[in-house]
Amino acid sequence: MAILVCGGAGYIGSHINKELSRRGYETVIFDNLVYGHREAVKWGSFILGDLKNPNEINGVFEKYPIEAVMHFAAYAYVGESVLDPEKYYFNNVANTLNLLRAMRTHGCDKIIFSSTCATYGEPERVPITEDMPQRPINPYGASKLMIERILKDYGAAYGLKYAVLRYFNAAGADPEGEIGEDHDPETHLIPLVLDAASGKRPDIKVFGTDYPTRDGSCVRDYIHVTDLADAHIRALKYLQNGGESDCFNLGNEKGTSVLEVIDAVRRVTGKDFKVTLTDRRPGDPAALVGSSEKAKRVLGWEPKYADVETIVRHAAKWRKYKDE
Ligand code: UDP
Repeated sequence: MAILVCGGAGYIGSHINKELSRRGYETVIFDNLVYGHREAVKWGSFILGDLKNPNEINGVFEKYPIEAVMHFAAYAYVGESVLDPEKYYFNNVANTLNLLRAMRTHGCDKIIFSSTCATYGEPERVPITEDMPQRPINPYGASKLMIERILKDYGAAYGLKYAVLRYFNAAGADPEGEIGEDHDPETHLIPLVLDAASGKRPDIKVFGTDYPTRDGSCVRDYIHVTDLADAHIRALKYLQNGGESDCFNLGNEKGTSVLEVIDAVRRVTGKDFKVTLTDRRPGDPAALVGSSEKAKRVLGWEPKYADVETIVRHAAKWRKYKDE
């Protein structure tokens, strides 16, 4: 039996594919390569296809014995989702319905779904626990929350088993340097600061210095992508062992400010660079920190690379390799 990784050519999906393969799972990667990279699929079988085409995803289930699905295929630019919500609702929500229908047709009843802390919107307090209200403030977060709801309804009606994993800020790269973060356009903090350190960008802009945080910049919970990968495999085993469908936060339970990330990049690279203090970016909550107590308790998960300097070091190694 194989594990189908939808969106397995992307940043998070490719790291999960590596981890699954390393642990002896057969994988089938289904990706339209709109944002994914063919060269990031170094393990398993690759199928070029799009979830918007039911025949393409059905074809995968006809060809391979799929035991479970891990679903990462989604657009994930918050700002773009505000400007073009239709793109997000069609791709993230409607296309997921095609995947779920193909799973039902072929009797596949397990899915690990890539969700996000963006489903919580502005939290009332941190650390955020899974039972706190989910009130997304942008279409991206709303699209993920809609799928969470769909999974719940399909679970009740059709017996679908699911694990919803709500990531905080995925960061870092494969410690062995085989794969890493490669977005185009890049909007994430750590790769942008690394680009400022290497001189590829003239500066790093700090979006907002007047937040009610310890240094005025936004606080986020950065979680290593390889630790995320480990959690996915634990969630898969949990479902295989008859665990109840559930939702889990995945973060380090530790907030790091934008200025602290910049300091970590200075320490790791030994380079100084220009830091420009600018206005807030619309839609950014002041602080997002997750409680992962449930994932630890139920899945036995424990992040191995919790230190932000380690996360930055792995990201820097990958970025350097990519630039050479
Ligand atoms: N950020 C920043 N400058 C940048 C990019 C991001 O100050 O060039 C800040 C952003 O406002 C947020 C944090 O860094 O507080 C993390 O942003 P990122 O886009 O990496 O992830 P998000 O939290 O939006 O998912």
